[in-house]
Amino acid sequence: KPVIYTKDKHNIRKESISRCARRTCEDLQRAGHAAFVVGGAVRDLLVGRLPKDFDVATSATPEEVRSVFRRSRIIGRRFQIVHVLCGQEVVETSTFRAVLTREAGDENTDEHGRMLSDNVFGTQAEDAARRDFTMNALFYDPVKEEVWDYHHGMKDVQAKRLVMIGDPALRYREDPVRMLRAARLAAKLGFTIDAKTEAPIHTHRHLIKNVPQARLFEEILKLLLSGNAAECALLLRKLELHHGLLPLLDAALDDPDTGPFAMAALRATDERLAADKPVSPAFLLAALLWGRVEKSLKRHELAGEPTMPALHSAMHEALDAQRESLAIPRRFDATMKELWLLQPRFLQRGGQRPFRLIEHPRFRAAYDFFELRARSGNAPLDIAQWWERFQDVNVDQRERMLVSEE
Ligand code: ATP
Ligand code: MG
Repeated sequence: KPVIYTKDKHNIRKESISRCARRTCEDLQRAGHAAFVVGGAVRDLLVGRLPKDFDVATSATPEEVRSVFRRSRIIGRRFQIVHVLCGQEVVETSTFRAVLTREAGDENTDEHGRMLSDNVFGTQAEDAARRDFTMNALFYDPVKEEVWDYHHGMKDVQAKRLVMIGDPALRYREDPVRMLRAARLAAKLGFTIDAKTEAPIHTHRHLIKNVPQARLFEEILKLLLSGNAAECALLLRKLELHHGLLPLLDAALDDPDTGPFAMAALRATDERLAADKPVSPAFLLAALLWGRVEKSLKRHELAGEPTMPALHSAMHEALDAQRESLAIPRRFDATMKELWLLQPRFLQRGGQRPFRLIEHPRFRAAYDFFELRARSGNAPLDIAQWWERFQDVNVDQRERMLVSEE
């Protein structure tokens, strides 16, 4: 029994729904099925944000959806969804599904109560109940222009409150990633996490280590590239979710020497995203790990190793230590290492070396990295400024800028 908000009782205009999502709902309804825009898109529209994609939920089975749309394909094996295509746009269309209620130790959960499968068709009400937060369980019908609310989501959105559906502790046990989602979405929307939704995070955060690495990394990446990474990181720290479990952020935020640099890198990423500029996850990951690299670099140098071999050892140590907690996929390694390896070369301003560095294919990214370090007190500011000038002037002037080194 949902509360139904008619057109005059909410602020969503059907024109804000993408053409493809609208058409998907219209055609499914014409074929006799229930069909709604659901989840993040409805939430975002209610708070006046532009959704980045639109998902549709329907009473039609995947085969039925397939038969309504010539350009569509069934995706996935465990739980099938249908991609409906219109022009360049793709709309993910899923059949209403239910979650079986389970106790820890059931065949469908691991010993901590984590859900291992999630795979039965259900009613619309069940589909609402399986979702994480009340604000994420709203359905919008673009034909009737109604919002269907099974869990008080509308009122929570208006109060800017993030509230878990059902028993929060149980829902975190089913899927510990929901703790990270709470932080990410609260930071993104500027919502407060409801006290009852927040409380069990402090006692259940250790469960995050049971989440498969690939999924965890994906979620962390989403968080770092959310456009609110700095905000998010502070909230994670407040929830103590950064600690131990996510040493990447742990070291990054708590280290007095490199913490400001890590934070500055998060802010710089947020600013680039706000300006629609491309961001490189490898750059950000390299910045978050820099504290560790630098620490072991200093240790090796104190033991008398020359800088470059010391840096090589330090990089490997940092990456190995990181892999024990959250494995960063190896595809990022090469770029991170390159950024790190170029850092000491910014200190060498004599002879041909600055000319060689400026020609390096990664110079620009490495310079941005160095400059961000300098601005956060992690590298000499005058040298960063020297490099800024060096890039601006012609070759003759560059020759004159060279700093002789003994
Ligand atoms: P974003 O704006 O980042 O896309 P979102 O809420 O849309 O946020 P998605 O990962 O796209 O996040 O998920 C779509 C919907 O699926 C959510 O709104 C929610 O209803 C449901 N959902 C996603 N992840 C979970 C989860 N771990 N547990 C329960 N429901 C979830
Ligand atoms: Mg989404």
